[in-house]
Amino acid sequence: MLPSADLPIPMRALLAGSRRKQSALLELIQQLVRRESPSGEKAAVDACVALASAHAKALGGRVKVHRSAAADGFGDLLEARFGPKNKAAKPTLLLGHLDTVWPLGTLETMPCRVGEGRMWGPGALDMKAGVAMAFTAIEMLTEAGVLNREIVLLLNSDEEVGSPVSRPTTERLAAECAAVFVLEPAQGLAYKPPAREPATGGST
Ligand SMILES: [Zn+2]
Repeated sequence: MLPSADLPIPMRALLAGSRRKQSALLELIQQLVRRESPSGEKAAVDACVALASAHAKALGGRVKVHRSAAADGFGDLLEARFGPKNKAAKPTLLLGHLDTVWPLGTLETMPCRVGEGRMWGPGALDMKAGVAMAFTAIEMLTEAGVLNREIVLLLNSDEEVGSPVSRPTTERLAAECAAVFVLEPAQGLAYKPPAREPATGGST
């Protein structure tokens, strides 16, 4: 039997768990950043998608890769589902992207590094850190035994150019879900405010 939807969340245990995962989280962000993935470089973006796909599978995710046409020039779209299907509760969608605005070779002038309480590297902020945080949150909820509905993680590869190919899939999956959280970075300690239409476009 699935846990009830109003199961109390053990916040102290989750906080302790998050602290234990900090170094692994930083490592995952760096792995993603070192796989450069500018929107128009399909092979490069697909390599980053493959890395994220392998990580999703390692966490027990049910992975589906939506192949984009080579003619489109954009990378594939990664859909990964976690947790139990719950007939009483629609899934939650976590939305992100793996493409960046930084051309191939940026790592040579902007190496990925950590220091002074910060991390540098192309796409670290927008939004490979957000992608790694989504994976870590899913892992924490799974380990704490409080994942009582399905989570759909959808990572596209064309967000920085307005999501021309991925938009229909995003809209279809969002319509099946109870809530959508977009894991883009915000300014300061705040959620990024919800966008008006178009929901997935923009270059930030
Ligand atoms: Zn972004």
